Amino acid sequence: TTTAPATGGVTPMMEQYIEIKAANPDSLLFYRMGDFYELFFDDAEKASQALGIVLTRRGKHQGHDIPMCGVPVHAADDYLQKLIAQGFRVAVCEQIEDPAEAKKRGSKSVVRRDVVRLVTPGTITEDKLLAPSESSFLMALGRVKGGNAASQGSFALAWIDISTGAFRVAETTAERLLADIFRVDPRELIVAEPVFHDPELRPVFDLLGRIANPQPPSLFDSASATGRIARFFEVATPDSFGTFSRAELSAISGTIAYVEKTQKAERPPLSRPEREESGSTLFIDPATRANLELLRTLSGSRDGSLFKAIDRTVTGGGARLLADRLMAPLTDPAAISARLDSVSFFRAETRLCQGLRASLKSVADMPRALSRLALNRGGPRDLGALRAGFEAAGAIAALFATTVLPAELAAALSAINALPEALARHLSEALDDELPLIKRDGGFVRSGYHAELDEMRALRDESRKVIAGLERSLIEETGIRSLKIRHNNVLGYYIEVTANHHGVMTGSDAAKARFIHRQTMANAMRFTTTELAELESKIANAADRALSIELAAFDRLTAEAVGEADSIRAGADALAMLDVSSALALLSESEGWCRPAVDSSLAFEISGGRHPVVEQALRRSGEGPFVANDCNLSPEGGAKTGAIWLLTGPNMGGKSTFLRQNALIAILAQTGSFVPAQSAHIGVVDRLFSRVGASDDLARGRSTFMVEMVETAAILNQAGERALVILDEIGRGTATFDGLSIAWAAVEYLHEKNRCRAIFATHFHEMTALAGKLPRLHNVTMRVKEWEGDVVFLHEVGKGAADRSYGVQVARLAGLPEAVVARAKEVLHQLEEGEVSGKTNRLVDDLPLFSVAVKREAPKPAKNDALGDALGAINPDEMTPREALEALYRLKGLA
Ligand code: ADP
Repeated sequence: TTTAPATGGVTPMMEQYIEIKAANPDSLLFYRMGDFYELFFDDAEKASQALGIVLTRRGKHQGHDIPMCGVPVHAADDYLQKLIAQGFRVAVCEQIEDPAEAKKRGSKSVVRRDVVRLVTPGTITEDKLLAPSESSFLMALGRVKGGNAASQGSFALAWIDISTGAFRVAETTAERLLADIFRVDPRELIVAEPVFHDPELRPVFDLLGRIANPQPPSLFDSASATGRIARFFEVATPDSFGTFSRAELSAISGTIAYVEKTQKAERPPLSRPEREESGSTLFIDPATRANLELLRTLSGSRDGSLFKAIDRTVTGGGARLLADRLMAPLTDPAAISARLDSVSFFRAETRLCQGLRASLKSVADMPRALSRLALNRGGPRDLGALRAGFEAAGAIAALFATTVLPAELAAALSAINALPEALARHLSEALDDELPLIKRDGGFVRSGYHAELDEMRALRDESRKVIAGLERSLIEETGIRSLKIRHNNVLGYYIEVTANHHGVMTGSDAAKARFIHRQTMANAMRFTTTELAELESKIANAADRALSIELAAFDRLTAEAVGEADSIRAGADALAMLDVSSALALLSESEGWCRPAVDSSLAFEISGGRHPVVEQALRRSGEGPFVANDCNLSPEGGAKTGAIWLLTGPNMGGKSTFLRQNALIAILAQTGSFVPAQSAHIGVVDRLFSRVGASDDLARGRSTFMVEMVETAAILNQAGERALVILDEIGRGTATFDGLSIAWAAVEYLHEKNRCRAIFATHFHEMTALAGKLPRLHNVTMRVKEWEGDVVFLHEVGKGAADRSYGVQVARLAGLPEAVVARAKEVLHQLEEGEVSGKTNRLVDDLPLFSVAVKREAPKPAKNDALGDALGAINPDEMTPREALEALYRLKGLA
């Protein structure tokens, strides 16, 4: 392909570039030129801007300068990271033959190049580009038209983490699609073009933005899927891994096809696809997931998320597993109990737990190292990571040897014991203690491992001594003190003298015969001798031979490791599991959490519940203790369905904190974690819905009110009796009566139709009247105390309804000008009176605007008698109902 003439001013090199670029239109092309990757044309302009590097020119194309920029190969990872983070994909094009080969074909021939890899957000393996504690999923969506499913067909999702080999697949529906995608939170989602352009699915891909990546439909063809899958896993038929639906096969095949497309010749060590039963995980819709800030806060940071508050893991694998679990809590009480048993075990076995965690700290990221090795991107330190992992695993297995373990831990232990012993031994025999990053220069095989290698190294090192000796004798022979024997890559070893001394070497024929001239520099001359040349080839041969022995050892160990991929991955998963269980035990101990009882009832009874993130934040800022609160939505009095709590209370009273903490406790419990409470009894929740906070969707052109209604509609349409629903301030974004009516009707519907457990927070106090009508609805309120006209939030949830909203007092706390506060109080007073008497117009007529200067005093009792005095002393806002009643009797007695 490099023989075509350079027409129209296109050099053969440019011609090759254009051809390769044409085959990779969606990616920036990193075109290898010696020690640089160079980018041209549009790519150069985009990359120079994205990376902040200089844009220059190289040659001309059709009369115009060609824009160019370049990045050094050794720093390419850093640049790749920046580009990927900005949503670019990069095609890495390497020289795939020795330049000498190209020269043999003719002087105009260009070195053969080809794209060896597409770097995309979902297919990264480099340590620098990956966060240790975050999975990096590539996901594929499979759709099969027809069948008895809805018009859109049936769907499946398959996802892999190419950096660890994890491979999972699950069926889904058009309705759940977005939620299931967000659950996995992939870096990249590949979709067949026709699916991507299906108008009915448009909203899904719009929301995903650049994560969604349309690909040719051939990748997803379900008819050829089994063949592709069988070839990849080198089995006769994929039936041996389980039965998959056609949509699942399509998704699996799409994933594999995309891996082949991006990794070219290399094959990552993927595990066999594991099927997730639908309904086995707690369904959390995307808005709820975002609002509850499980892995990230709404602003996108990890700080302040639930994950950050509970993560005590010490390995990358452990952190990833914890995040995975948090994103997909279980629904099977038995499976949840099995996880809780492991946590309980470590809670009880404190010493063992501490020993385990000390050993876990030296576990390296084995799955990621293994992936790099398999993809031919590995180095000695990746082998070192496996060695470290095996050593730590051995120490850990020994810790558990004499203890009776719960089932899950026993299974983990046997996976750890099944780690390949022979490989572990080979690695520790072969590898040096300190390992270089790259294998190219050798220096990683331990001395004493390979006899010939030791011999070659000795020869090489000895020859270096001989060179030093030769230098000394040449100085003596020539009398030139400054004579040096040096080495560079072009000349190899040479003798160098400064220009003023060269006469000694060139002055006579005999000298000329002995000192062979190699190079003249500005102020030095370089020579060699037969002796030096011989020594040099001996050294070079020894070094070459040593290196090839090392590289062969590297390849052998790599092949052995890749051959053991399955057991290494299983062992690493087991270590991650131990990390998670013991970390959760530590957490529950230091934070005072309890083991929840999770069963198949419809109970939801939390006593002394806390919000883990708010509690930790309050502790850090020293703002006093978090007030624990109970919540009981369990069916009562023989009812078969759970209850609804209607929560009123002033702004800032702690309503949203209470709502969220109960949702988080359910998630934590079903994740298999202890929970921030004194006790908790939870009948598994199958769907968690929330409508909390102002998840602003204005960017998509919807009003806050519209978003609220869409989310509320989803809840009312989907929540079943096993759901847990958390609703905050429905109907806020519209006129009062509209809002109240919608909130009112929504509660009735939840109570009568959805019949699910729910907490409904509202500022419409009128709604508390519903408790008289709906038997399973209970009024609760955030307690406050009024003190000298200010409100004090107690953050305590108590039975009953708030009598007022204290909006004016809260406004005062917020620093509204005193005059505005005073005026607001008057208006409020009038409005409340008006509501009673049916007249509100007086407001406009009667009250002077901002009579700031006039100091308003509390109305004095008209007559200065005992009754009046007693009345004046009463502050109804500070009285308990009982005190009020007593006061009333007292007043009656005075009359
Ligand atoms: P609301 O939703 O009623 O406006 P929030 O739930 O946002 O109130 O709570 C307001 C603030 O009160 C929180 O930022 C938190 O600092 C504090 N708070 C809430 N609940 C508690 C609690 N149970 N104990 C202590 N402080 C709390």
